[in-house]
Amino acid sequence: MIATIAIVGAGLAGTMTAHALRANGYDGRICLIGDEPIPAYDRPSLSKAVLTGEVPEAPALLDQDWYVTNSIEVQLGRRVTGIDAGNRRIVFEDGTSLAYDRLVLATGAHARWMTVPGAQLSGIHRLRHHADSVTLRQTLTSGRSLVVVGGGLIGCEVATTACKSGVDVTLLETADELLQRVLGRRIGLWCRSELEALGVHIELGTQVASFDGEGGHVTSVVLADGRRLPADAVLISIGADPADELARRAGIDCARGILVDGTGATSCSDVYAVGDVAAWPLRGGGQRSLETYLNSQAQAGIVAAAILGKLLPSPQVPIGWTEIAGHHLQMIGDPEGPGEIVVRGDSASGAPLMVFRVFEGRVEGAIAIDASKDFSVATRLVTAQIPVTVARLQDPSVNLRDLMKTQTSDTT
Ligand code: NAD
Repeated sequence: MIATIAIVGAGLAGTMTAHALRANGYDGRICLIGDEPIPAYDRPSLSKAVLTGEVPEAPALLDQDWYVTNSIEVQLGRRVTGIDAGNRRIVFEDGTSLAYDRLVLATGAHARWMTVPGAQLSGIHRLRHHADSVTLRQTLTSGRSLVVVGGGLIGCEVATTACKSGVDVTLLETADELLQRVLGRRIGLWCRSELEALGVHIELGTQVASFDGEGGHVTSVVLADGRRLPADAVLISIGADPADELARRAGIDCARGILVDGTGATSCSDVYAVGDVAAWPLRGGGQRSLETYLNSQAQAGIVAAAILGKLLPSPQVPIGWTEIAGHHLQMIGDPEGPGEIVVRGDSASGAPLMVFRVFEGRVEGAIAIDASKDFSVATRLVTAQIPVTVARLQDPSVNLRDLMKTQTSDTT
């Protein structure tokens, strides 16, 4: 009998696991433990509406009533410091412990930090938690300068938001293009030109050597080439690392995240991992933390089903979305890799645009720019591995929906 399921991490992945357990009929004890002081909220809004102040705080993921009605024992502001897997107990910072029958680790990721001189000055921010967004918001007033270090998802989303608020934004990226990890080089270049049109000053291939300040507060960013950029505030957004230290200390197999199988099971019996902390098997091969909202949500459902014996092994396909320079971008699969890139639409005219990567007659990755309807078709093409031909995919006279019917007679 599964009397108690303990979930460590009360963000999206942990909370959705609790939700899916109840939705699947589990009526035992669920303890949902998180170190943030507030229940799960909409993290994507931290770089957008919360940052502008359009909404004072991030919307809650679930109504407060839901936790009560569903008898979820929520323990917030509490840190778990150890797992005693032999005795099936988790240990809290204050020395108390809790017995579990099944344990779900949903501890998320830590924002990476820089070790260069001056990184401890005030006015240098990260953006991971609700409190970070509220603090950063106070610095984003018109006419002030913000230097963003790291041109990935957070960097580009915050640059957009800050620029629209009249802030003078400089975005520094070490690589030779923005957003390569998630969107690939081609879309990274497109986003760069859109951000520049918005007024963001972008420098690629740059290294920060140090931060300078006065009275303990940052005043400038010093680059490796000796240049000095004035800064009223700095955001460091150079990536995230899975928060897998609890699992490592307990001897659970990890490799940049907790290694799990297609049901979320770890190398330790009765312990599962879900969300940003879990390195999940990918449908296309390999295994990694996917760092996206939609994958975390999907994994929560899979872990809940697995715990309840309704096995649903499911390798993941990366899927996500972002808002950059006023555009809504959605992505599925891997945009970079072997095969051919097919573009549908005309970016110069501002029309909806789809970019596909086709390999061996299948769409392996797709990105939609302001093209939500087409993205739902692309999602189906990628997930169902429907055979396609490049000729039909790039032909604007062919309705994308027609491509969902299996094509066997076409040639490229
Ligand atoms: P990221 O991995 O998306 O981007 C980090 C960027 O920083 C990369 O372009 C990298 O080349 C660059 N970089 C690394 N070291 C650098 C350095 N020393 N100087 C300058 N540039 C450097 O990470 P992020 O933007 O920090 O986001 C953190 C996490 O939050 C990720 O897991 C991300 O997926 C998640 N997130 C997701 C969304 C979304 O899905 N829309 C939005 C925001 C954040």
